[in-house]
Amino acid sequence: MPPSIVVLGSLNMDFVVSVKQLPAPGETVLGRDFTMIPGGKGANQACAAGKLAANGVAVRMIGRVGKDLFADHLKASLAAAGVDVSGVHAAKSQPTGCALISVDESGQNSIVVASGANFEIAPADVEAMRRALHKAAVALFQLETPLPVITAALRLAREEGVTTILDPAPAQLLSRDLLEHVDILTPNENEALKLLGRPGAEVALADAPALAAALLELGPRTVVIKLGAQGCFLKQGSWEEYVAGFPVAAVDTTAAGDTFNAGLAIALAQGQPLSAAAVFANAAAAISVTRPGAQPSAPTRAEVDAFLAARGE
Ligand code: ADP
Repeated sequence: MPPSIVVLGSLNMDFVVSVKQLPAPGETVLGRDFTMIPGGKGANQACAAGKLAANGVAVRMIGRVGKDLFADHLKASLAAAGVDVSGVHAAKSQPTGCALISVDESGQNSIVVASGANFEIAPADVEAMRRALHKAAVALFQLETPLPVITAALRLAREEGVTTILDPAPAQLLSRDLLEHVDILTPNENEALKLLGRPGAEVALADAPALAAALLELGPRTVVIKLGAQGCFLKQGSWEEYVAGFPVAAVDTTAAGDTFNAGLAIALAQGQPLSAAAVFANAAAAISVTRPGAQPSAPTRAEVDAFLAARGE
């Protein structure tokens, strides 16, 4: 039986309005276009993994939604990407998580997230994960659900011999107790600095080795720093490698990191070594930044294979 991938995380409905100018406190502004887009970091990663899966690799989502119309819409969107949503259950009291996003003419945004049902995910969901983990090769986590649940799920995945990948987003400090159950930690530049208690800044390639070394000290086995257009930097013990990004015309980098993590998980589940998996992840994420949106921007497997073949990879 082919290995599977389990994603534990958030599902949100994103409500996006474009405005001329973001409102000041107390101000009302009239917006123009309104779109409702399936989102949430967990769901974005599951959706991208579903589209990238090949050779029978199954992708399973574990999460919580409300008892409302948005729940059906979010589950249908994942199911359309081939994701098994039987582990996405209805929360008792909270509505489906949502994000209220305003985007102004310069592309700057202001976002309020109501976590809702995502914070009702509980130890019972982790226990229910055990069967899914039994057949899994890789489990994906992010930080939009409660930290104690993520810690318990990471520990369980480790017990089951599953490779754990944590996207430490949104950026925050994390305990050693959580990080030492992480096989592969995948921060972007900002998250990497935040994990070390340093102020946000752009990371020059020359600084990546020292940054990765400092992150390894926090407890994970491997660090993959996502460096935007530059690609990514890998470090495991004393071994390290820089994997350059693919030059593309970027139009919207929303969810590039989620697509990257999905690509990494799929390639590792199919038995590729870390360096090759990072090339696949860079390619999937590069294609995603050439298109608008989160879940709709993730490429299919055929698109990534064609992209890599055209570049002689
Ligand atoms: P996040 O989306 O989490 O902020 P990054 O901005 O570092 O993370 O992007 C994640 C990955 O997406 C990068 O490691 C790279 O593979 C790819 N990527 C991002 N921006 C670009 C770009 N402009 N051109 C090509 N690839 C990109």
